[in-house]
Amino acid sequence: MSSIDWHARALTLKIDGRALIAGRRVQGLRGETFENRSPIDGRLLGTVTRGSAEDIDLAVASARAAFADGRWAARAPAERKQVLLRFAELMLAAREELALLETLDMGKPIRYALGVDVPAAARCIAWYAEAIDKVYDEIAPTAGNALALIRREAMGVIGVVVPWNYPMIMAAWKLGPALATGNSVVLKPSEKSPLSALRLAELALEAGLPEGVFNVVPGFGHEAGEALALHADVDAIGFTGSTRVGRKMLEYAGRSNLKRVYNELGGKSAFLVFPEVDELRRAAQTVAGAMFFNQGESCNAPSRVLVHDSIADEFVSMIAAEAPKYAPADPLDAGTVMGALVDEGQMRSVLGHIEAGAAEGARLLTGGRQARVESGGCFVEPTVFDGVTNTMKIAREEIFGPVLSVLRFKDEADAIAQANDSPYGLQASVWSSHIDRAHRVAQALRAGTVHVNQYDEDDITVPFGGFKQSGNGRDKSLHALDKYTELKTTWLRINAA
Ligand code: NAD
Repeated sequence: MSSIDWHARALTLKIDGRALIAGRRVQGLRGETFENRSPIDGRLLGTVTRGSAEDIDLAVASARAAFADGRWAARAPAERKQVLLRFAELMLAAREELALLETLDMGKPIRYALGVDVPAAARCIAWYAEAIDKVYDEIAPTAGNALALIRREAMGVIGVVVPWNYPMIMAAWKLGPALATGNSVVLKPSEKSPLSALRLAELALEAGLPEGVFNVVPGFGHEAGEALALHADVDAIGFTGSTRVGRKMLEYAGRSNLKRVYNELGGKSAFLVFPEVDELRRAAQTVAGAMFFNQGESCNAPSRVLVHDSIADEFVSMIAAEAPKYAPADPLDAGTVMGALVDEGQMRSVLGHIEAGAAEGARLLTGGRQARVESGGCFVEPTVFDGVTNTMKIAREEIFGPVLSVLRFKDEADAIAQANDSPYGLQASVWSSHIDRAHRVAQALRAGTVHVNQYDEDDITVPFGGFKQSGNGRDKSLHALDKYTELKTTWLRINAA
């Protein structure tokens, strides 16, 4: 990979920002577009269809027609498997192109777009493809004069609305289970990162997915996104994004057809370090690595460190020594580990949180400023605050940038209370060499995933999602199949001879 000149590749990359509806690339019905600029240096990548409510109507109608005539839903699971496996293969074959689109569009380092995002998205599609002809339905243990079949049926048309931080992976987490179960999909990618989704839809067609089964309408949240979530002919919304918009998704469902809403929302995950931990340096390396990965733009970033008073100074100095290793650099350079934030607005928001932290009395240990200003891109230094209390804005709000807050605790009960004192409950991590304590604290933490003595484990086989205002749905694993299917019971009478 290091031999690839990504800058040269970027100059010849073909970018098509038109919607894909009913198997064809189309301009929006109103003919409106918006400019798509790269956060790496502000370059214009191209224009993208500004999808309207009329475009959403067209896409939903195409998805509904495809569902109704059974061109996909009525195919045997083993046949759907073959098409989706081919789709995953084509993604891997196009990995360099997809990775470059992702890096240019949202600023992440090319090494991770290529080494993490594309393979993880392809693996997700392939995993659901492989699973779908191995999932059985149920027969209930009823009395002998009747038979009750409990089956999962595809829902119909699924609206998918995703964010910009892992555009392809977030889309794949919905597409995998929704398509494998036989649904049709209308995907509205983020206006900040629409390019890879459009290319994915082309690859799906090439793989043999019938026209109309997977439509992509790019555009803004308050236009195309809202129209999709309000649409009376959409059966469910798979949403990943902010808690603010997740709330709206529930309102839209209430105001329209009570469609099912699955929300995967924000986080402010706690990383608890107890005094007996025997690998303190590895804990510091782990929290810095997880926090600064993807420029801190990860819903599950461990952005609140809670450390016992007795080891706090030592731990804080270890984290401060790690942070500069993540200094931002050119995302198109294969050696870069921290890239650009997604846009100017996000950068200003992150810098605003840093100012608020200092104003509220937190101690800035390292970072805190915009970086690589001369590039014209949106870069922020990896930033660590000590002396944070749980009432400060930087401890309560999701910053979604490379900013880590360190809080202190006096005993186990205090640690658990502070960790749980958050509107969010996505993930958490407990560091302790006492097995009882590790279990006890893991049980007490109100989070969808708790890591013990690590933070890196992740696999398509396990559910991903949060408690409280981090959402309700679970992406990944076989549990995600439940989101895109309805349970149907069929009673059959068995007459006596
Ligand atoms: P966002 O909520 O602003 O936007 C997400 C998507 O919703 C975008 O496609 C956007 O266009 C659309 N949208 C915005 N307003 C809308 C509206 N009124 N109606 C319909 N759609 C609308 O979030 P973001 O800034 O793109 O992404 C960051 C957020 O995503 C963070 O809060 C992060 O924690 C969260 N996230 C959560 C997970 C998870 O699995 N829990 C994973 C990744 C990101």
